[in-house]
Amino acid sequence: MNRSGKFALGVLCSAVLAACSLEPNQLQATAGTSTAQALAESAVARDNAPGLSEQYAKLRKQQIAQVDYKLSVTIAKTGEAFSGRVIADTQFRRNLLQPLTIDFAGGEVQGVQVDGKTVPFEYNGHFITIAPEHLKGRKHAIAVDYTHAYSTNGSGLHRFQDPVDGEVYMYTDFEPYDANRLFPHFDQPNLKAHYTLDVTAPKDWSVISSVREKNIAQKGDVNHWVFPQSKKFSSYIFSLHAGPFTQWEDDADGIPLRLFARKSLAQYVKPNDWFTFTKQSFEFFQKYFEVDYPFVKYDQVIVPDFNAGAMENVAAVTFNEGYVSRGEKTQAQRMRLANVIAHEMAHMWFGDLVTMNWWDDLWLNESFATYMANLALAENSEFNDAWENFYLGTKQWAYGEDQLPTTHAIQLPVKNTDEAFANFDGITYGKGGSILKQLPYYLGKEEFRKGVSNYLKDLSYKNSTLDDFMGHLGKSAGKDLDQWQQQWLYKAGLNTIAVNFQCEDGKIASLTIEQSAPEEYPVLREQRTQVGLYNMAGDKMVLSKAIPVTYAGASTDVTAAKGEACPQIVYPNEGDWAFAKVNLDKVSVDNMSKHINDIDKPFTRLMLWQSLFDSVTDAKLPLDEFVSFAISNAGVETDINVIRLVSRYLATSYSFLNQFQMDSAKRTRLQLAIETFAWEQLQKAPAGSDTQKTWFGTFTGVAHTDKALANARNLLRGELTIDGLKLDPDMRWGLITLQNQHLYSDYAQAIKSELAKDNSDRSQLNAIAAEAIRPQQEIKAKWLENLLQNRDEFKLAQLKYAAGALFPTEQGGLYDANAERIIGALDDVNSSDASEFVGTYTRLFPLSCSEKGVQQMSEILNSGKSLNPLLEKALKNRRFRNQSCLNMAAAMNGHSAG
Ligand SMILES: [Zn+2]
Repeated sequence: MNRSGKFALGVLCSAVLAACSLEPNQLQATAGTSTAQALAESAVARDNAPGLSEQYAKLRKQQIAQVDYKLSVTIAKTGEAFSGRVIADTQFRRNLLQPLTIDFAGGEVQGVQVDGKTVPFEYNGHFITIAPEHLKGRKHAIAVDYTHAYSTNGSGLHRFQDPVDGEVYMYTDFEPYDANRLFPHFDQPNLKAHYTLDVTAPKDWSVISSVREKNIAQKGDVNHWVFPQSKKFSSYIFSLHAGPFTQWEDDADGIPLRLFARKSLAQYVKPNDWFTFTKQSFEFFQKYFEVDYPFVKYDQVIVPDFNAGAMENVAAVTFNEGYVSRGEKTQAQRMRLANVIAHEMAHMWFGDLVTMNWWDDLWLNESFATYMANLALAENSEFNDAWENFYLGTKQWAYGEDQLPTTHAIQLPVKNTDEAFANFDGITYGKGGSILKQLPYYLGKEEFRKGVSNYLKDLSYKNSTLDDFMGHLGKSAGKDLDQWQQQWLYKAGLNTIAVNFQCEDGKIASLTIEQSAPEEYPVLREQRTQVGLYNMAGDKMVLSKAIPVTYAGASTDVTAAKGEACPQIVYPNEGDWAFAKVNLDKVSVDNMSKHINDIDKPFTRLMLWQSLFDSVTDAKLPLDEFVSFAISNAGVETDINVIRLVSRYLATSYSFLNQFQMDSAKRTRLQLAIETFAWEQLQKAPAGSDTQKTWFGTFTGVAHTDKALANARNLLRGELTIDGLKLDPDMRWGLITLQNQHLYSDYAQAIKSELAKDNSDRSQLNAIAAEAIRPQQEIKAKWLENLLQNRDEFKLAQLKYAAGALFPTEQGGLYDANAERIIGALDDVNSSDASEFVGTYTRLFPLSCSEKGVQQMSEILNSGKSLNPLLEKALKNRRFRNQSCLNMAAAMNGHSAG
């Protein structure tokens, strides 16, 4: 239904008499108040399309003053669909001027009643429309009876059947706009509501939502679960999970805790870790925020086929089953679990209690939870290297993406719900989290904390904007943050900092921090950092002085450095407070390469190794030199984080060597050196250590000679053992995949035998990857057919595993042979409704280190096609990476790229 502004204005005058009695100048004077809102309302009509626009959400916010939902849902073990009835107790701000729409994607509507009376409605598969004449007056109970199919792609109400025991499990996942796949309602974050839920479910199931049930009544072979009214929150964090879960219980200082997992996975869950990390986070956050946990209980549900890592549903958080390891976890893996638990919990306050008004501030939710989780770990857990891990993971992700052509400002307009996640990347999570790490250092730790606390107190159960948040921080610190906001939130790009220093008579005569910006984003920023000065003391390279300094502009004189002993290494981001790329001076680079293992602080070694590999990706240092340096120096390293970083970059180097056009004898020699080094490190690592597990992972990534593949096969068969190395099912699949990748020995039989032993869902997904990775055209053709033609026959999780394995770096020839087929499907993927599939499809464009690879991407991008934003971004980044790979190869081959 479309309405012109003129027509609607007529309606406005007949319906809102008070407004029409105003003189024209009075109309002007009241702009911004109800009259202007009424005019705005007249201008918006809703497109017959999926999603929700910001503009329309604004209109609906003007229509609706208050809404609460009573929801009844019936779910069963069998069947394709569930049924429900929702009553939306709705208060309107005034008599409606135009139709009311209720979001409801992909269901069937049996009937609509207003105050008990059946009314006509329209339903287009996206939303239900009720004409205003059926909603006269300010208060109505709007009831909808409906059915809806269960989903298989992990969003809405997802249904999963366990291949091990046939049990069925269900869970919801809604952000940003899938809650309306569970029930028809007004699915926008600023229409917060109370929810009263009742569920009819099979007798042996648990039903989990935002509050604990008050009653379960048995009715034949089903149970009727009745939940009391919840607190008020946005619908994207409402939830309904159900199934015959195994359950554990504990309590965090009075907050009841439960943990749920599928029965067949339960033996691998370590509830002690889960509850310990949960309690430590609660302890930290309640103290830090000075606001008690706002919801009555805290459930954590581990679920299959989950698309993200975890989701902060109010008091019923869901976690990806990937967080359950079927063997012994490394400390890094345990920390990842502690981190995600803390991240979701931080959202209970920041996101759930106080919620963004619209999706343009979603980044702040995520940045905040990312930063807070690391702070909680650093301050109140066994993981005292949380910030090293932040540097290794989150920060590198952010630096990497901030140098891509698709980088963007942290804060961006979001026109509709389809765009809410289009820019969800290393910038929103990583850079956002990193600049929040900078803020307490810049403003003062306690000033920052107090600002956050006041923000939460003032806006509990309400919606907020970025300005509310910055306003509270600025007030608490007594600082105007406008300029900071402009520099950091509204402008893209990564600055580089370098130190320029002179010494006289063994002392520093002058030291400046030089800041530069990329041409495309010429903004220089202000931030606070520490300059670290290092000198040899005995046989150790030690930090002799750390000088805090706030720098701004192109050059900042660090006067406090004058007179200090002339340093052998200067690191301008000591302690990693700043968000900037570090360019080391020549003296420091020379000393670093001589003394890398003499540096006593592991964090400094970590950052220096990272700088070294940055020089490789910037095509300043030839890759073969990095490989030689790493192999000569990393063998004596003992810090696990440095080992993780170096082994990661050796595996990356191995992959690049597959891609480079280069002398093949040299390639063979370098790749063999990497494989041999990984195997040696694996042999000599302490039995059962994380170092051993780390090198095992690297070895399976780089093994390629017959000798190494024989070792891998013998490990799998138990004919070869390494003291302390226990192969868990996931490590076994790593070896089986490797065998298939090289068609080595009994590769096909290895998949069959493993499946016969372990028929779990995860095992089946791994089996798909192990098959798809084979270097055989018939296998590629089969899986491309499944991915591009028959994807309806598969769960999204299965397609993801296949797509991710299809073209490993050494199979460039097979990719070339299939490129036309893949690119040919572009229009279909682009035009179809399969937005969840787009991410999977982008996995089918591997790195291609050739002019042709660059050109191929350009041809698509320049074709004038309007591309799905996610797809367009992936292709632009792919083109850029193809070009940098060419540059790296040129740097190594001793000439510059064309
Ligand atoms: Zn989050």
